[in-house]
Amino acid sequence: MSNSTDLKTRQTAAVPTGVGSKGIYVAKAENSEVWDVDGRRFVDFAAGIAVLNTGHRHPRVMEAVAKQCELFAHTCFHVLSYESYIHLAERLNAAAPGDFAKKTIFLNSGAEAVENAIKIARIYTKRSAVIAFSGGFHGRTLLTMGLTGKVMPYKRGFGPFPAEVYHAEFPHPYHGVTTEQALGDIDRLFHGDVDPKAVAAIIIEPVQGEGGFNIAPADFLRALRRLCDEHGIVLIADEVQGGIARTGKMFSIEHAGVVPDLITVAKGLGGGFPLSGVIGRATIMDAAHPGGLGGTYGGNPISIAAAHAVLDVIESEQLFARATRVGQRMRARLDALALELPCIGDVRGLGAMVAMELVKDRKTKEPDAALTTAVVAQAEQRGLILLSCGTSANVVRLLSPLTIPDAVLEEGLNILAEALRAAYGRESARAVA
Ligand code: PLP
Repeated sequence: MSNSTDLKTRQTAAVPTGVGSKGIYVAKAENSEVWDVDGRRFVDFAAGIAVLNTGHRHPRVMEAVAKQCELFAHTCFHVLSYESYIHLAERLNAAAPGDFAKKTIFLNSGAEAVENAIKIARIYTKRSAVIAFSGGFHGRTLLTMGLTGKVMPYKRGFGPFPAEVYHAEFPHPYHGVTTEQALGDIDRLFHGDVDPKAVAAIIIEPVQGEGGFNIAPADFLRALRRLCDEHGIVLIADEVQGGIARTGKMFSIEHAGVVPDLITVAKGLGGGFPLSGVIGRATIMDAAHPGGLGGTYGGNPISIAAAHAVLDVIESEQLFARATRVGQRMRARLDALALELPCIGDVRGLGAMVAMELVKDRKTKEPDAALTTAVVAQAEQRGLILLSCGTSANVVRLLSPLTIPDAVLEEGLNILAEALRAAYGRESARAVA
């Protein structure tokens, strides 16, 4: 097998620059640990960006996939249908909040789920406008880029973007944006830019992922529900990152007690196999004509088999409670580090979706992107895979598998503490010099 230096050289020659990567080349992975081609071992606090809630290669997921491979690998559901697709739809319909009939369509990626949710909202309402939020991330396809509220690296140079997409401010108590101000911003849109009666959907991540693990306050989500009811707008919860037990509930919006009309899911659902879906009110989901929704691979039988195993594991291993405990442990460590290191401006999270925001000064809250990059690099040198996020690239996010053993979690948190101290010491020395 090639070593990582060779692979980096070959990647540079063969793969476009736009496909960013860390330069770590994996050889094998098990639950929350990864080994690279050079034989280095890492604790994984990225989980393939919130995909591996059930860990790398969960035995039940692997077994379900192997069994399905013995039967059939692809038929295209539109051509030859299969019970497992229908049964997974039934399970998700039952799991989603809302005391009404629901239906689910399966697709491949998070972006595709978002695209379909917007299509469905538009055909149902016979309206075209969509409201999304600053700092939101919904994918890299043309429409989802338009919905995304973060220019770099997602939008720069890729326009023009689809029309009829409006951005309102996401409430952010740490940065002084209150629920009232965020609602005022929607009011401003309704008066200045778009008639609420022309709005098909409001799409929101109840916990922003790429945007910095910003948690929408419950009163804001409740107010959105009221606004949508008042104006006949479809409320879409984008649960691609925050869903499937990550926050201690199946869907993160459940923490606020708000029932959306449509929910997009992906990532954790397939346990490492590409699968996404839109779950929603049957009356809305049924608005599209036959053939209007779908695709060649959507609901691929192998991914569907994996997803059934994921839902089984969430139940049998009590991953809602485990997510809460993992998150508490992470937060306790980050809170303790914040007492020691003034560069930690904020520690926040919901369940096992935990982050710290790094700042140059706690009063001004000036973002420290350089320190954030240094922390991630220092962690990697010490054997911990970390991801940053945030519109100012100054948030470190912790997204370990929910199945991570306590000892590995502690090991990862110890490395994180060392990496922070080392990076902070180095960056502070540089600032003084
Ligand atoms: N929506 C949210 C909230 C996400 O976090 C992501 C990906 O990170 C997407 C949509 C897009 O998902 P995908 O990369 O599978 O297209």
